[in-house]
Amino acid sequence: MTRIFNFSAGPSILPVSVLEKVRDEFVDYQGNGMSLVEMSHRGKVYDNVHNGCVALIRELLGVPENYKILFLAGGATLQFGMIPMNFLWGGKTADFTLTGAWAQKACNDAKKIGKVSIVWDGKPGNYQDLPDPKTIKANPGSAYFHMTSNETIGGVQWQSWPDTGKVPLFCDMSSDFMSRRFPIEKFSLVYAGAQKNAGPAGATIVILREDLLKNCPESIVAYLDYRLHAKGNSLYNTPPVFTIWMIKLTLEWLKGKGGLPAAEKMAEERSKIIYDAIESSQGFYTCPVPRHCRSKMNLVFRMRTEQLESSFLEEAKKRKLEGLKGHRSVGGCRASVYNAMPVDGAKALAQLMADFAKRNG
Ligand code: PMP
Repeated sequence: MTRIFNFSAGPSILPVSVLEKVRDEFVDYQGNGMSLVEMSHRGKVYDNVHNGCVALIRELLGVPENYKILFLAGGATLQFGMIPMNFLWGGKTADFTLTGAWAQKACNDAKKIGKVSIVWDGKPGNYQDLPDPKTIKANPGSAYFHMTSNETIGGVQWQSWPDTGKVPLFCDMSSDFMSRRFPIEKFSLVYAGAQKNAGPAGATIVILREDLLKNCPESIVAYLDYRLHAKGNSLYNTPPVFTIWMIKLTLEWLKGKGGLPAAEKMAEERSKIIYDAIESSQGFYTCPVPRHCRSKMNLVFRMRTEQLESSFLEEAKKRKLEGLKGHRSVGGCRASVYNAMPVDGAKALAQLMADFAKRNG
């Protein structure tokens, strides 16, 4: 079998060694005579996987003990609604930065539960830029301040963090979680769907500071109540065991590579190769995002006509480079280069870009 270079935005490329390990252990998990996915989630064998995964996340990100690490279902999308249901009830206001389609979705759900104050709105600029975090202020008294660290569709990524003072900082890190270090103590709640850097789809990782839990309302249904998940160590109900197992294997792979410092270095290297290919094309390729906020995970670029873009995508497919079509809402091209993308993938893409521009420029 020849593996392609998979540039999809998510679900996305995973390390081959992780896929092989799952394959090898799938039917008979470590001599237990059954698959891990056939076992009780309350047994000792699964318990080791579950707590091993929590411990790895804690270790890689340096998460202190006063933060809970949860695995929830429903994608990052459920968090868009679950966060306000827990923290924006009773007439409260939350601050939002509207940096792209994902921030907008989070804000739309929050508006159904409480009030929102838009601290920064990127819509007039087509979500192609980000503000200087130093210029961003939270409104004193807001229940929380919500941001999206990396906009998967628009390809903009915050390079540093705003200071929100006493207002708790909440962040959707779905598309750059586990690709870089961040100062967890600045954040009260961080969430990320697993299906980019951390594993397959099916679980959302939520890291939240324990003292927030006192703000959850009594009148909330069980699954949406963070307190129950925190108290039960994400075993209040049956967790997505297969995904959690694969997250653990993926993070073990990352740890073996050198953890987050290594992930940062790889992201820097891959993204530089592709952005350099754009810059050196003399305008054949253009990136709509200014340098100061270009994403190292989702790299967007355009050509002068859609016709050219679709021939580019066809040629890419012939070279086994797939998933390069931009999101259907914005068009163009997008290369998602998550942790598991080898540098050779970025090089192969840059080579195609150079060849294609030479022939069509
Ligand atoms: N936030 C961001 C930044 C995303 O990229 C995505 C999905 N691509 C989501 C939220 C929604 O995640 P899910 O599909 O897991 O609900």
